[in-house]
Amino acid sequence: MTETEWSAAVDAVRGLTPGPDGDEVQLICHVNPDGDALGSMLGFALALRERGITRLRATFPGDFELPTPYQDLPGVELLVPEPEAFRAPALVMTFDVAAESRLGDLVALLRAPCVVVLDHHASNTRFGQVNLVDPRAAATSVVVDGLLSRLGVPLDAAIAECLYVALATDTGSFKFDMTTPEVHELAARLIAAGISPGDISRRIFDTRPFGAMKLAGEVIGRATLDPTAAGGQGMVWTYATQADLARHDQRPYVLDTLIDPVRGVAEADVAVVIKETPQGDWSVSLRSKGAVDVSRVAVSLGGGGHRLAAGFTGHGTPEEVAATVKGLLAANLI
Ligand code: 5GP
Ligand code: MN
Repeated sequence: MTETEWSAAVDAVRGLTPGPDGDEVQLICHVNPDGDALGSMLGFALALRERGITRLRATFPGDFELPTPYQDLPGVELLVPEPEAFRAPALVMTFDVAAESRLGDLVALLRAPCVVVLDHHASNTRFGQVNLVDPRAAATSVVVDGLLSRLGVPLDAAIAECLYVALATDTGSFKFDMTTPEVHELAARLIAAGISPGDISRRIFDTRPFGAMKLAGEVIGRATLDPTAAGGQGMVWTYATQADLARHDQRPYVLDTLIDPVRGVAEADVAVVIKETPQGDWSVSLRSKGAVDVSRVAVSLGGGGHRLAAGFTGHGTPEEVAATVKGLLAANLI
């Protein structure tokens, strides 16, 4: 990221006319938003609102449903369902969106006079006029913090809570390799702004309905270990269906947490969770402990992500999806 790009983003925000007759600003994060997508977007939304930008909406494509842990994020009142997004905003900003394909029908808003992309995926397709894309950043919230400091916006407790949720989510609670000194330095500044890390972590990571726990038990119980996959590095995989969700009366986003226990399996470098979508295809999560670049598998199947965490949309039976992944892992793609 060059200083020219930072300046262009700063100018785009500073050039906005505030107030009720001012410019419309539309913020967008990716479909099926996670803590980084929502936290980064809402943290920046709060900063814009504090600057007097009142014609301000935040949205994401697809079903307007937030995972329970994110329903109380500061700034959540700025979220609108996709159909209520501005039609012709002066400025569009995207958060944690690696490619246009992650925007669904909101891709039409990229026709806005100015589009600023904030992201940290190496696979980012740089679809904005201004692209603040830092693949070395642990989370999009690190990029947001960089822009806020260049705008001279101080971190208050509400902004800090959003950015902390984003940072903690994408670093796996400060456990992943991307947990650099800069990550802890940002976390320190966020905590100093007055947030409660214990309360936030309990809410985001350590609270789930009884049915979600029972569902996880079933999905873990049907996992398959294939020690020969990925050139002998091993692959563990499992799947979860819409019927599983219905049986335990759980919402779809509950499936997104299942990758965490699965990727802990010692005998496998690669973990795969194949999650049925309401449309009947499969949202596939891939993780590697380091021996394999799973983003290459995901990209070759039309998806994307990072070296150690990636995903794509699969078709067929779960067994077929797993076999496709296994085939690509074996086929010199790694
Ligand atoms: P997760 O498994 O947590 O859904 O996703 C892991 C990573 O892969 C995230 O960085 C996410 O952005 C990326 N990812 C997951 N699914 C897709 C997909 O269908 N397309 C793209 N481009 N990226 C994906
Ligand atoms: Mn992210």
